[in-house]
Amino acid sequence: MQHYDVIVIGAGAAGLMCAITAGQRGRRVLVIDHANRVGKKILMSGGGRCNFTNTGTTPANYLSANRHFCKSALARYTPWHFIEMVERHRIAYHEKELGQLFCDESSKLIVKMLLEECASAGVRIETSCSIERVLHGEGAAEAPFRLHTTHGAFVATSLVVASGGLSIPSMGASGFGYELARQFGHDVLPTRAGLVPLTLSGKHQERLADLSGVALPVTATCNDQSFSNFMLVTHRGISGPAILQISSYWQPGDELHLDLLPGQDALDTLQRWQRERPAAELKTVLGDALPKRFAQRLCEHWLVNRPMKQYNLPELRAMADVLQHWPLVASGTEGYRTAEVTLGGVDTDGLSSTTMQSRHVPGLYFIGEVVDVTGWLGGYNFQWAWASGYAAGEVA
Ligand SMILES: Cc1cc2nc3c(=O)[nH]c(=O)nc-3n(C[C@H](O)[C@H](O)[C@H](O)COP(=O)(O)OP(=O)(O)OC[C@H]3O[C@@H](n4cnc5c(N)ncnc54)[C@H](O)[C@@H]3O)c2cc1C
Repeated sequence: MQHYDVIVIGAGAAGLMCAITAGQRGRRVLVIDHANRVGKKILMSGGGRCNFTNTGTTPANYLSANRHFCKSALARYTPWHFIEMVERHRIAYHEKELGQLFCDESSKLIVKMLLEECASAGVRIETSCSIERVLHGEGAAEAPFRLHTTHGAFVATSLVVASGGLSIPSMGASGFGYELARQFGHDVLPTRAGLVPLTLSGKHQERLADLSGVALPVTATCNDQSFSNFMLVTHRGISGPAILQISSYWQPGDELHLDLLPGQDALDTLQRWQRERPAAELKTVLGDALPKRFAQRLCEHWLVNRPMKQYNLPELRAMADVLQHWPLVASGTEGYRTAEVTLGGVDTDGLSSTTMQSRHVPGLYFIGEVVDVTGWLGGYNFQWAWASGYAAGEVA
């Protein structure tokens, strides 16, 4: 039976950061992962360049049943702490937009950096190791956690659950962390896919399917939250950053508003077009403001196409309403298969917001995506993983 001070389940972003922090404090740390290599999601993130943080991170960029829970950890491990590590390892990076930092070369460098930090902190990592059972309280008081795995049995003083969410099952995602949380008396809030493309059905899908690949800027609004960015039409529905962002706020049955002329007053714009180009048809003027095929499709199904001079004011008002509140009804999401994150998870009510430690079982910690804290698109999810991993690593 091998004894560790800290066993971390999951060698993803949060688990590795926790292991580094605890290892640097002189703790004997073992990280166990059932996948054959560490940090698979880091490797595939940001299109292979890992959007590793966002310099504008604030608690407002996260969804959680308790909006305050993430504050303490985010304040103590900021984007600048992670940037310091990235710079120390001489990894070149750039800001893409809105504070999003990406590697110039490859996400592989972030995984390499984390592994080097683990090695110098004396952290042991076991990959391709499946956990069969987790027992608590049966052995010595100083090592209350006992894990039976395919690589043997281990005991630990502290157990950190960093097994992530349910998104991308092909990358090793599992519901293991939620099962473990329930085993130890924690509530798990309902989970659902977030940062995920939305699907359309019936006439909505038929009308748009052949426009797959067309992208345009929109403002997407749902449940009092808005995002202005690009929307991309797909074979089965809509995607692109604006839609991925709003998908985390949308649930079946919720109204989704899409403003196709973001930042403009649609009625003013239509009246200006009417004054400036009275003889031109709507689809022509609209085709100068939006992708042409998309404008044409709008005029076939949602608007009536005529020369601009032929519309009276009530008609212009009705058209402005369609353009500013395009009545598209989403039928669902593409689900965990393509979702970047899982919303919901281990209820933060059962955890300390400063240490991530369980309020029910001393020495048990939950960090990263398995917890009910989910970030927006743009590096916020990794920042939560680093910050919550650091918070637990400081005390475990
Ligand atoms: C395609 C994609 C792109 C993304 N891009 C970005 C981005 O650019 N920026 C950003 O901020 N976020 C991004 N994300 C989100 C980000 O990857 C996650 O929020 C983050 O990885 C969560 O870290 P974590 O350590 O909690 O979980 P994970 O990174 O998922 O790690 C969990 C680990 O636990 C292991 N595990 C699971 N079950 C078990 C078990 N039963 N036994 C042992 N081990 C287990 C898994 O194999 C995995 O290694 C992206 C996600 C996806 C899917």
